[in-house]
Amino acid sequence: MKIAILGAGESGTGAALLAKAKGHEVFVSDLGAIQDHFKRELESEGIEYEEGKHTWERILTAEEVIKSPGIPDKAPLVKALRENGIPVISEIEFAARYSNTFTIGITGSNGKTTTTNLTWHLLHQAGLKAGLGGNVGYSFARLVLEGNYDYFVLELSSFQLDGVLKFRPDIAMLLNITPDHLDRYEYKMENYVASKFRIAMNQTESDLFIFNADDANMSEYMSRHAIAARRAPIGESLIEDTRIQVGNSVFDMNETPLQGRHNYMNALFAVQTAQALGLSEDAIRAGLKSFINVPHRMERITEINGVQYINDSKATNVDAVFYALDAMTAPVVWIVGGQDKGNDYEPLRQLVRQKVRAIVCLGVDNAKIVEFFGADVADITETNSAETAAYAAMQLAQPGDAVLLSPACASFDLFRNYEDRGDQFREAVLKIKSEKTTKS
Ligand code: ADP
Repeated sequence: MKIAILGAGESGTGAALLAKAKGHEVFVSDLGAIQDHFKRELESEGIEYEEGKHTWERILTAEEVIKSPGIPDKAPLVKALRENGIPVISEIEFAARYSNTFTIGITGSNGKTTTTNLTWHLLHQAGLKAGLGGNVGYSFARLVLEGNYDYFVLELSSFQLDGVLKFRPDIAMLLNITPDHLDRYEYKMENYVASKFRIAMNQTESDLFIFNADDANMSEYMSRHAIAARRAPIGESLIEDTRIQVGNSVFDMNETPLQGRHNYMNALFAVQTAQALGLSEDAIRAGLKSFINVPHRMERITEINGVQYINDSKATNVDAVFYALDAMTAPVVWIVGGQDKGNDYEPLRQLVRQKVRAIVCLGVDNAKIVEFFGADVADITETNSAETAAYAAMQLAQPGDAVLLSPACASFDLFRNYEDRGDQFREAVLKIKSEKTTKS
């Protein structure tokens, strides 16, 4: 088959390598520049590519097009393909055609990466041959091409799910659905909800659907649409204090690095899956204890003069911040701000009144935050770099407090991405620490 691939990041390159290996005629096209290491991979397999442009005439001769999840449906080329009746799918759909391996798919508005990593870790620690990928790390296509796995644990974004037709995970997890990315869904929550449920649409009664029973958006959808898979509801009723219960087993989360109710929920999903795959209670307990979460998610950086510094730079929406503040037991100096995605801060007001001692804004335009929380928090300072934010927070914090970077906004006004923001913040905090140590 003649296949065109739009976008040559990890997913496009993975798809190209797999398509070539399966004997297809492949052409890769990227409107931007392609990273050198991807180019080298394409070249070594003799795959033709172009960068900095899309040659429409050539792409429109393809029998099928695999589109990077970053390219919206409203892009003119994608529209033209559809008008010409050329199927446009995601790399997930394509890779699934060549896989018989047991697949665990994980989606949700928040917690995907944490839950995907944790699920993989539990399986891996128990000695199962599991591959980790999808929206994190390696593409699904690359994992399929590598072969050699008994399980795939895949993080799936709604953009990836938009491009699936027949993809059917053996276990699907839907963690939560709160407003995010609405610009890609015509600003209609129901479109975004429907996109998330595509993870379960091809499941059959032999599959398992693990979902959040407390989530109003999910309940509403499920009251109107049938789900064929066996259902495993997860909810806050399975959490008591710091303990979570799955089946007859109870796990104390105090023995693990996963803190906060949101992480207890994530753990419930992962443990439910581990149990479904027959892992022993001991193996699960050991896995929970030895888990190390990825950086920028409630990452404890260090303590300086009795103040904890926490990097939650990945909290790019209001719901993630809600859980971050909810998890805090000490008074908080909250670093917030960046590129606003149309945020409604109202869900945070109560927590902010209860827990936040001072606010440090970190963004180019902080007017919305200053105005919204002005009456709730006496101390609001504006900064425009990670370093000045860290210093301002240090001055406002008292022993016993926590300084929390949990921005509720995207980072692109001042930083390359959320990792850059978190890394710069960590560096600034560690610099303050070394200055304090040198002085004392
Ligand atoms: P995702 O991959 O869906 O973006 P992450 O695991 O990277 O999820 O976490 C993103 C942000 O959301 C972090 O700030 C994290 O602390 C927060 N978070 C993690 N799990 C949840 C959850 N279940 N509900 C709400 N927020 C969460």
